[in-house]
Amino acid sequence: RTLSTVVEAGLKASALRVTKASSLKPLVPNQDLIFGHTFTDHMLTVEWKVEEGWAAPEIKPYQKLQLDPSAVVFHYSFECFEGMKAYKDKNGKIRLFRPEMNMARFNNSADRIALPQFDGNELLKLIKNYVKTESRWIPSERGYSLYLRPTMIGTQEYLGVNPSNRALLFVIASPVGPYYKTGFKAVSLYATTEYVRAWPNGTGANKVGGNYAIGIKPQLMATKQGYQQNLWLFGEDHQLTEVGTMNCFVLWKDDKGELELVTPPLDGSILPGVTRDSILGLAREWGKFKVSEKSVSMPQIKEAVKQGRMLEMFGAGTACIVSPIKKIGYLNEDLDIPLDPNDPNAQAGPWAKKFNDTIMDIQYGDLPHDWSVLV
Ligand code: PMP
Repeated sequence: RTLSTVVEAGLKASALRVTKASSLKPLVPNQDLIFGHTFTDHMLTVEWKVEEGWAAPEIKPYQKLQLDPSAVVFHYSFECFEGMKAYKDKNGKIRLFRPEMNMARFNNSADRIALPQFDGNELLKLIKNYVKTESRWIPSERGYSLYLRPTMIGTQEYLGVNPSNRALLFVIASPVGPYYKTGFKAVSLYATTEYVRAWPNGTGANKVGGNYAIGIKPQLMATKQGYQQNLWLFGEDHQLTEVGTMNCFVLWKDDKGELELVTPPLDGSILPGVTRDSILGLAREWGKFKVSEKSVSMPQIKEAVKQGRMLEMFGAGTACIVSPIKKIGYLNEDLDIPLDPNDPNAQAGPWAKKFNDTIMDIQYGDLPHDWSVLV
């Protein structure tokens, strides 16, 4: 396929066709929701062919996909996805959080595996339409939301290792509860030195399925040793990259004693998280500490802990907003990471909590901010 000669029809929200489910599923009570287990009544799908471009989008009853066993998605991982949420505010209005960032990242991921591009504004219009269709599934309690999973797969029926001439974009939705039902729970991490997740100029910056299957075995190694998640490192000097499937933050006093919030830079190996960007934005707006996007290594973390310069560490992502870290197992040694110096029972440091609460206030429309987009 020669991209330059193809005249593709763009993705057009106005061409949407809607077929409603004839019977609706019973809603699941909030307290029974388990992440990613319950799916709503409908799905959004759009087919793409290299000769024709994007077909008319459809909202239709949630159903199984039918794919040929030779479809390239099953052989060469032509798959990318997004994770975002729809929230219901106090007035019953539906809100999305910085959804244009998910659209841009989705296009970047698709591009990296030679799947088609689309107009992000058009997909956003379709997603807004879809979440309105599924409105009854969006819990109105704070902390609850409708998790959205936009996905694109290559569907060409062909065993050649080539760009796929067929693709399917779909969006499914799952009502989810708060990550911390009974308040924060700080996690212990195993710093993985046996495997790497990603590397500069690799695919770590893209949300492609291939990045995730390879993370499960290291995750199992961490849990087998009694830790909850793994901390991904890179390089001879063991630079921190990500925490499980979250971005990573360190709040410490640097070696000159200055308060500094550090997160690894977007060098191609780090997923550019929406939560990461939001935390950086808030921290810069607050101006309470130096904010640095720079690499930080495990030996530096260890030194800071031993010298009492470590204040807080936490992971950040859409699922939990922040995930406080209490312990890191690194080369046969456990490093205790402080939580709250004023409360020995605390499960989160004061700044992790402030980032979490502020972002949640914005997501639920309690704190007016242009990051929150009304549907
Ligand atoms: N890193 C990885 C590897 C992820 O899968 C995610 C979740 N998308 C994140 C970081 C956090 O990104 P976001 O804040 O956009 O959810």
